[in-house]
Amino acid sequence: MKLQYLGTAAAEGWPALFCACEACKKAELLGGKNIRRRSGAILNDRVLIDFNADIFFAKISLKLDLSKVKHIFFTHAHEDHCYPEDLGCFFPGYAHMEDHSKLHLYGSQFTKDKFDRRFFARHREGTENLFEFHVIKPYETVEVEGLKFTALPADHGCPESLFYLIEDGEETWLYAHDTQYFREENWAFLKNYTFDFVSLDCTNGPLDSNAYYGHMGFDTNIPTRERMLEEGMANDKTVFICHHFSHNGHMMHEEMEALMNPEGFQISYDGMILQGK
Ligand SMILES: [Zn+2]
Ligand SMILES: [Zn+2]
Ligand SMILES: [Zn+2]
Repeated sequence: MKLQYLGTAAAEGWPALFCACEACKKAELLGGKNIRRRSGAILNDRVLIDFNADIFFAKISLKLDLSKVKHIFFTHAHEDHCYPEDLGCFFPGYAHMEDHSKLHLYGSQFTKDKFDRRFFARHREGTENLFEFHVIKPYETVEVEGLKFTALPADHGCPESLFYLIEDGEETWLYAHDTQYFREENWAFLKNYTFDFVSLDCTNGPLDSNAYYGHMGFDTNIPTRERMLEEGMANDKTVFICHHFSHNGHMMHEEMEALMNPEGFQISYDGMILQGK
């Protein structure tokens, strides 16, 4: 499996849209891996996880061919993960492609309701052959493009948020974002698997994760990795990645690497490719 991060920041981006803090100024000055679009990923160049307003910038920067994408999995309804308005660009006339078959969207009922209000309410006519939203519930599995997506319930400040366990028959990946430290129900389920790649929410960075509901940081990523190793969900080959960062953490990419590489974590950056078998 191959995963490419399209963006690696929290909702405000980094440098954040209206922010003049030192962390944003420094990121702007240093550039490179310190410039972070809002979070999202593409699997095997064909399946998207989340779709936000920065997808346009990601497509240009990373030279993505999105005409091949027929499936989008939404984690939750927050705008930095679900921005339905830009799917208007999928209509014929805006998009010319060899195979203009339907775009399949997956997410919770809450995400679908928001999607319906923001997209189908505006584009009622002619959408039935172009878009289909499939509601997916926690612990349900959907198979697309040779990838099995299993939804898990996330603890996040948005109703019915999900994160995903992804299998391709050879490898098992975990993409766990916009969730805080896993609830015991999650752990009980995850114990059935040994993961090859684990990408964890790190919005809080060096800040205290107890002070901010719905996200993780270094203080929760480290014990998550330890527990996965101790209880057989990971081994010495498992790749762990910190991903989805807020400027409020104030740490530049290299500073986070210096702190977290010795703890067994890589730090995500926009365009980073994780290549499995
Ligand atoms: Zn987010
Ligand atoms: Zn800032
Ligand atoms: Zn969110």
